[in-house]
Amino acid sequence: MPLIPDRTVDSPNRYARWRFGQPRAVLIHSTRSGRSGFTDAQELRATLSWFQNPESRASAHWVIDASGAKIRVVPDEHPAWHAGEHNQHAYGIELTQSALGGPYTDGHYGGLVAVCAEYVRLGVPIVRIPTFRNGDRGFAGHEDSLQGRRIGKSDPGPPFDWERFLRLLREEVEHDMSAIDDLRRELAGLFIAIDDTRTVLALVGRHSRENRALLRAAFDDHLALKRRVVEHLAGHGEEPRLPEAAAAAELEAR
Ligand SMILES: [Zn+2]
Repeated sequence: MPLIPDRTVDSPNRYARWRFGQPRAVLIHSTRSGRSGFTDAQELRATLSWFQNPESRASAHWVIDASGAKIRVVPDEHPAWHAGEHNQHAYGIELTQSALGGPYTDGHYGGLVAVCAEYVRLGVPIVRIPTFRNGDRGFAGHEDSLQGRRIGKSDPGPPFDWERFLRLLREEVEHDMSAIDDLRRELAGLFIAIDDTRTVLALVGRHSRENRALLRAAFDDHLALKRRVVEHLAGHGEEPRLPEAAAAAELEAR
């Protein structure tokens, strides 16, 4: 299932399309409005209104606040404007941080990991890139990009714990992979049940009205379970094969 944002705030500041295909890299930023007195909520509000203003010419794919809320600003189909010449080569994620040195919370890490797990599923490897150049694959801080270095960027800065972030991300994706494995096994079990399904269909044709209702109920349970598995797999970009789809359609048509 694609990640559902806690909020969506559209920004006009984006390109129409990825000129070199969807990237395999993510740049991590922090917002730094520069107002050190700002609460996290004020920092978030200021960032979102900045990204909604066409004059700022700035945006990101996501903003994550200290509570872990994930705010979608630019859809992944479009490059956002967060790092100059790298915009066509990396997704951009902002963590709220009102001033240099401000701490990142468990919420920040949790929200960031949830968002980045989706990028890992799209093919971004779980590695930190020490000096980001266009075409590199993995995760980097804005401060570690060539553009960021040239213009003196320092985000997300020393308070960002890369080791912790990469470990949490690995754990998140591992968990996900094992869930997919479980579902694969479940699906394999359902394929074994195909023969049963065909038997059921044949029986439905032959039996009494009462028996038909019972068989139909059993078959509906089977279909409901199958749909759940298929939807989950589809959410992970898997292409489920359904040889019994025709048989199911036949039954539904009765
Ligand atoms: Zn930045």
